[in-house]
Amino acid sequence: MNAVTAHWQQYRTRKVLFWSAVLAFIPIMITWEVALEWPAYGGFAFTLLLVIASASYYAKFKCPRCGRNYILRTAYGNVLTSKCLHCGLNAHAHPDEIQSQNYSLKER
Ligand SMILES: [Zn+2]
Repeated sequence: MNAVTAHWQQYRTRKVLFWSAVLAFIPIMITWEVALEWPAYGGFAFTLLLVIASASYYAKFKCPRCGRNYILRTAYGNVLTSKCLHCGLNAHAHPDEIQSQNYSLKER
C-alpha cells in the first residue's frame, strides 16, 4: 500500500466512523433508556459526545494535494462532499492527479 492509498484509507475510516456515530444515535438512545433503564439525558450526552468526537476527527482530515482540511472551510463544513472544499480534488483521486499543479485554490 503506497502513501496515497493509505491516505485515502484514512479518509474512508474517518468518514465511516462519523456516519456510524450518526446512525447509531437512535439505537444507542433506545438501548440506553429502554433496555438499561438509565436516564435519557445520559444517553443523549454519551451519543452526542460520540458524534462530536467523530466529526472532529473527520473534519481534521487533510487534503493530500493542498494540505488543508478536506471537508471544512473557515465558515462551514460539508460532510456530504466528495471533493476538497479548497482545491476540488476528488476523493480517492489517482496519485497523478494529486501531484498535478494544474489546479486553482478557491478563495480562502
Ligand atoms: Zn485540497
